Amino acid sequence: MNHFELIDGEMHVENVPISAIAQAVGTPVYAYSAARLRENARAFRDGVAPLGRVHLAFAIKANPNLAVVRLLANEGFGADVVSGGELARAMAAGVAAKDIVFSGVGKSRAELIQGLEAGIGQFNLELEEEGVVLAALAAERGLRAPAALRVNPDVDAGTHAKISTGKAENKFGLPIDEAPAIFDRLGGLEGLNLRGVAVHIGSQLLGLAPLEAAFERVGRLVADLRAAGHTITHVDLGGGLGVAYRPGETPPTPAAFGEMVARVTKGWDVELMFEPGRVIAGDAGVLVTEVLWVKPGVTHPWVIVDAAMNDLARVALYDAYHGFAAVKPSGKTMVANVAGPVCESSDVFVKGREIDAVKGGDLAVLQTAGAYGATMASTYNSRPLVPEVLVSGDRFEVVAKRIAAEHIMAEEHVPDWLK
Ligand code: PLP
Repeated sequence: MNHFELIDGEMHVENVPISAIAQAVGTPVYAYSAARLRENARAFRDGVAPLGRVHLAFAIKANPNLAVVRLLANEGFGADVVSGGELARAMAAGVAAKDIVFSGVGKSRAELIQGLEAGIGQFNLELEEEGVVLAALAAERGLRAPAALRVNPDVDAGTHAKISTGKAENKFGLPIDEAPAIFDRLGGLEGLNLRGVAVHIGSQLLGLAPLEAAFERVGRLVADLRAAGHTITHVDLGGGLGVAYRPGETPPTPAAFGEMVARVTKGWDVELMFEPGRVIAGDAGVLVTEVLWVKPGVTHPWVIVDAAMNDLARVALYDAYHGFAAVKPSGKTMVANVAGPVCESSDVFVKGREIDAVKGGDLAVLQTAGAYGATMASTYNSRPLVPEVLVSGDRFEVVAKRIAAEHIMAEEHVPDWLK
């Protein structure tokens, strides 16, 4: 049961027919399954449970909707945040400050202060200077900031180049070989409790080997740091587990991930921290869209839908694959392209694929769109910001309203000297 099943010929989210959501809210609209989010959260929690002392922080960049973050907080997840806005969201959703980890390659001084004043659980530092600044800001306030150094282990995650973060040439983390000297210099600062190491090598990983290689390097670093007299109590192993976007894709299960981590981290004697995003939210959402037209094409017909790259950017950004399925499939199929109305040639969701046959007025879904979907939406082409609905059993609720182009326009202004 994946909670996006056909019941009496119509796709439902849990027990709610998708046409009921479309009728009430309009299209395009994201629809999330609360049950699926919970199942994914519990599978991850169970997968890492044998590791003992663990801290779970949902990477809220994957899906920062307040209701989603709250649901996951109820399941024992803190939050991994990468901006002051995400920090404010996590707190507004009810995540305890101590359960918030602040990652991100470019935190401003204002954001560091926001984190300090909120009393968050950990700052993951990306460079030495950030540690110096954070220590000073904390000391001025009579605080000691809990922190870890994010290292770049120079491991190829084997995923799309635009979601790889652990190769030496990526902007993330500091070179793992330089970490001991940086630890020596930052370790003694009054405002800093430099207590650990963090790593995150990329997203949508379909194999465990790159993660294992990265964690082994981190293990050697932890041993070296301890040998040099540093106290290491926390290691943050990041996120990255993939989900099945294509038929037949078999990403590692959280249980297999947990077994690998148990083997590699045996004897580390630290609190292990995790920042999963996609594996929690990815398959818990779909983007519901209406077919506007079926337009003849040179090689294949163009199915023009009312969702576009501004609502779901992943295909344009990463050539990502999303399944396309009719809400009321007739059983017939067609080979077609599927595209949105935005004026960019990259606004194409599907190219020359066999899909459910559809015609103008039909509802369809782009599948596995619960992570890095609505969160990346924009108002490009002055389109409204896409709404989100959370389904639980036979009820659903709008958890983010559609923001009309007029609202955005109301924040703009023509100077008098142009009138
Ligand atoms: N942690 C950090 C530092 C990240 O940059 C990301 C995403 O890129 C994540 C966690 C979550 O990754 P994923 O959604 O692949 O689990």
